[in-house]
Amino acid sequence: MSRPRDTIGTWIGWTFFADLATGLALTFGYMFSKTVTMQYPDKEKWLPYSRYRGHHFLKRDEEGEIKCVACELCARICPCYCIEVVPYEDEKGNRRPAKFEIDTARCLFCGLCEDACPADAIALGQQYEFSSFSSRDLVIGRDDLLAKPGKAATGGGVVAARLNTQKDVLVETDERQGYNWWRNIRRK
Ligand code: SF4
Ligand code: SF4
Repeated sequence: MSRPRDTIGTWIGWTFFADLATGLALTFGYMFSKTVTMQYPDKEKWLPYSRYRGHHFLKRDEEGEIKCVACELCARICPCYCIEVVPYEDEKGNRRPAKFEIDTARCLFCGLCEDACPADAIALGQQYEFSSFSSRDLVIGRDDLLAKPGKAATGGGVVAARLNTQKDVLVETDERQGYNWWRNIRRK
């Protein structure tokens, strides 16, 4: 091999070696840094930020009556046509929903139903763990929507989760300001 080609080959070799050394240094650096893997859901649990739109719920007024007046505005404005409301008139002459169903398999969680409701009767809460093997189970009826909790008051945060498989998942947290995903990522 001629001398100029030999010199070029040497520089290429050093360049690749430098890249390799940089990559290995990064790998070894992460081997000894704090892990960023979340042990979900057994030890850690993500509570979404308060603006997160999750599972819907229907509200009650101070007397415990369902607030919904079955006006069907939410069903009309829904871009996915996934809300079905069938009204009836109760003994006091109030219009109420005999049937109120949301097909969450089709819902895109845009929140338009919440915005359109004139009675402040429907909202999207924080719950996000409601996957199912059957799309039929994702059609949520009136009574289930009434039973859902309101929006979480904690904001975002990673919380230690204590699983109670007999009942619900019980969660406790010290972190109330949300989880900084990047705090364990080292950057140049
Ligand atoms: S969140 Fe949007 S898509 Fe889902 S039910 Fe409400 S309006 Fe329809
Ligand atoms: S949830 Fe609100 S918008 Fe929908 S039917 Fe009831 S009152 Fe009307």
